[in-house]
Amino acid sequence: MVLSDKIAAYLSNASWIRKMFEEGDRLRKIHGADKVYDFTLGNPSVEPPEKFRDELKKLALNPVPGMHRYMSNAGYPETRAAVAEVLAEQSGLPFNANHVVMTVGAGGGLNIVLKAILNPGDEVIALSPYFVEYGFYVDNHGGVLKVVPTNDQFLPDLTAISEAIGPKTRAIIINSPNNPTGVVYPAEILTGLGDLLDQKSQEFGRPIFALSDEPYAKIVFEGTQVPSVFKHITNAILVTSHSKDLALPGERIGYVAVSPKINEVDRLVEGLVFCNRTLGFVNAPALMQRLVAGLQRESVDIAEYQEKRDLLYNHLTGLGFEMVKPQGAFYLFPKSPVADDVEFTRKALAHNILVVPGSGFGTPGYFRLAYCIDKEIIERSFPAWTALARELGL
Ligand code: PLP
Repeated sequence: MVLSDKIAAYLSNASWIRKMFEEGDRLRKIHGADKVYDFTLGNPSVEPPEKFRDELKKLALNPVPGMHRYMSNAGYPETRAAVAEVLAEQSGLPFNANHVVMTVGAGGGLNIVLKAILNPGDEVIALSPYFVEYGFYVDNHGGVLKVVPTNDQFLPDLTAISEAIGPKTRAIIINSPNNPTGVVYPAEILTGLGDLLDQKSQEFGRPIFALSDEPYAKIVFEGTQVPSVFKHITNAILVTSHSKDLALPGERIGYVAVSPKINEVDRLVEGLVFCNRTLGFVNAPALMQRLVAGLQRESVDIAEYQEKRDLLYNHLTGLGFEMVKPQGAFYLFPKSPVADDVEFTRKALAHNILVVPGSGFGTPGYFRLAYCIDKEIIERSFPAWTALARELGL
């Protein structure tokens, strides 16, 4: 009995992504890596922008004295100011460095926010399908996750959200562009959500925050704009990272930005900085903070992702798979052609195709494909998809 009951229980229900990853390993050993089509992991296939490497080389050749020391728990003021400058432009609000806390990825950011705002038993709404880690993060800080389904286009259903909000509701997590659907929430929906949260915050006598988890904000196609959450929602907290937009997931660099419109905003930031320290993050990685300061307007090559989306979307819809065409991120979330998505996952496995069942995101009846993999693998998988579609009578 080395583990707590809770962690032992979590481990016995190991996540679908993990399970499929292990299954992939098994299949690769049997069939060879080139005959296994693994669409399970959201690990960017592209390399960071050239400018990132240039800055990295410059810094390595001309190290700044003290560059590996501790700094303020909020992060370097120059980096926070660089982030704030872009946010001020996008939102038209008076952002400055004091509204930004540098974090250990978006995962670290979500944890410090939840730690800072939740009382035991407070509820946090997530919109299904949702990134499964939200449940663990909320639980980490004594909160309770309340799942509200999205509509048939995977957009927030404001009536359902309104009905789910009660005196214990402290926050709603939104994620656009979305993992797993790739859907981007339009401005009208954010405005509607902002009005609803204002009204409910007033009714229940404390702010209900919108935590906008946006690591995919720059990965959008065909000129899609991701509206600034700060323009539409008063109590908005942006949580993001450079894991996807600069392809740096292993470097663990992100930030939290709080709306200047929030009442007692300085007190909120004080809490976030305290939690960054006391959760043991202490500060975001120093070297990465220096590098990303000058890269706030950069991103990986989005065209490459769009090409992969189109390749896979066209092939699968051509075979009869049904799905909402995603405007961003690097996932497809098609309807499972058999009612039981776990059974579908097994059928796909028999063709060496690895996908994650929608049940893993709180939405059975669908499956997720991560297409942030080499184009050649996507192309090589086509005959397997065709054979699977035939077997299922599509
Ligand atoms: N939020 C969503 C929706 C994600 O998909 C991910 C990672 O896949 C994260 C947060 C965590 O990202 P990070 O690497 O910044 O912690």
